[in-house]
Amino acid sequence: MKPKFDLVIIGAGAAGLMAAASAGSRGLKVLLLEKNRKLGVKILMSGGTRCNITHNCPSREIVRAFGRQGNFLYSALAALPPETVVEKIEAQGVETKIESTGKIFPVSNRAIDVRDALVTMAEDAGAEIHNLSPVDSITRQADVFQISIGGDAREQIDAAHVLITTGGRSWPGCGTTGDGYAWAESFGHSIERTVPALVPILSRCQWANDLKGITIEHTGVEVWPARGRAIADSPTGSNALPKSNTLPKSNTLPKSNTLLQPGKKKPKKPKPLSRAQGSFLFTHFGFSGPTALDVSRAIALAKNARELELQCDFLPDCKSTKLLNLLSQRRSQHGKQSVGNLLNDLFPKRLAEALLIESGVPLDSPNAELSNDGVERIVRQIKENRFEINGTLGFEKAEVTAGGVCLNEVDSSSMQSKLVDGLYFAGEVLDLDGPIGGFNFQSAFSTGWLAGQSVPQPTA
Ligand SMILES: Cc1cc2nc3c(=O)[nH]c(=O)nc-3n(C[C@H](O)[C@H](O)[C@H](O)COP(=O)(O)OP(=O)(O)OC[C@H]3O[C@@H](n4cnc5c(N)ncnc54)[C@H](O)[C@@H]3O)c2cc1C
Repeated sequence: MKPKFDLVIIGAGAAGLMAAASAGSRGLKVLLLEKNRKLGVKILMSGGTRCNITHNCPSREIVRAFGRQGNFLYSALAALPPETVVEKIEAQGVETKIESTGKIFPVSNRAIDVRDALVTMAEDAGAEIHNLSPVDSITRQADVFQISIGGDAREQIDAAHVLITTGGRSWPGCGTTGDGYAWAESFGHSIERTVPALVPILSRCQWANDLKGITIEHTGVEVWPARGRAIADSPTGSNALPKSNTLPKSNTLPKSNTLLQPGKKKPKKPKPLSRAQGSFLFTHFGFSGPTALDVSRAIALAKNARELELQCDFLPDCKSTKLLNLLSQRRSQHGKQSVGNLLNDLFPKRLAEALLIESGVPLDSPNAELSNDGVERIVRQIKENRFEINGTLGFEKAEVTAGGVCLNEVDSSSMQSKLVDGLYFAGEVLDLDGPIGGFNFQSAFSTGWLAGQSVPQPTA
């Protein structure tokens, strides 16, 4: 007997709603199942309830932002690039705006407008949507999928095709409890180890915790092995040793082009495990803000986060030598002023003071008494500040999940499983996680749309 639905989609988040609109618009009989009462809960809470829909950039930059996983997104982005996502949302009467960071938001700053637009798109395309329908299991017999719904809805539904869009396992309180991974495994798929990503970082560094509430708009943040340690099993494979904490002596530039002995290879410059530039926030438990979130995955992947340190450059656009000259000039021009005021125009007062205290210079002495070594130590404190790390806030507070259904077992031109005909995946349940900036929604929208376009039309 012909199954009741051509396609059952499990999970009404960004990917599921977009897929329902896509498949429904092609005349497929579509059912979208969601365990929560509300549809698109993560959309509602996203971007501080403003919803950063996507990023204002060409598709190739989205691909690049996803690093090693990016190539998987080529076809999906060709099917639904960022500008088309914006067109579709605007076509529902939701105006959008591009902010200076490139992030795209609804003009209303209301995530609910975006969620409602997506639900309307799916409904207008003819998709049936059932909330309070938690799927318990998916099985397959004779080319037909049986989807079993638990809870009060308790029912079994047959479908010719199934699309899993259950998201990751971050913010489990939203319904994203990683259910899709077990189903994928039951169909023979491998799951890339899942870790929290885009998650605040824990640090017990007391002086940093005391700076809670301070945001630095432009900071360079890097994750390094703790000084004197190499990481046995580093996430990026780079067994990097920490950068030496030295500055060029007395205003001279470092010697470059040191002659190598013939036959000897130039030693590789150590690289951080992760790096990002942008806004950085001190909190009572550690660090947050876009840069801290963007580098957090490297910390979550580490066997022991305590073997890592966070290095912050609080003036990334000013070279060490230039800063050294600037502070030396201030010392001579304002010799009578106290050292405690030296950085007041560069940073918020509490941070300026903390940096000076940590560099060990006497705050009450006049600038004129500040030694060259003291100035160098201040520069290092600003440019190469190292904080101890104690881990992350984990899945409970992670914006995304890194890891998931292995990409090489899914056909990137259709989102169909390479192992099971008729089974599809889209969105965060896949091993896809991007940086802050609207990249994760874009990936969910594009993969969901492509899956909806790829499911074959029913045969008469
Ligand atoms: C606080 C926060 C803020 C964020 N802000 C942004 C942002 O501004 N921009 C951005 O690009 N990204 C943001 N993200 C990330 C983004 O929300 C996700 O990457 C995106 O929602 C993934 O879409 P998805 O459709 O794959 O999964 P989800 O949106 O997570 O949807 C999965 C759905 O499946 C449902 N489900 C799970 N299991 C079952 C089951 N057994 N039966 C039925 N239904 C089930 C869940 O209830 C959920 O509704 C944010 C994330 C968080 C947590």
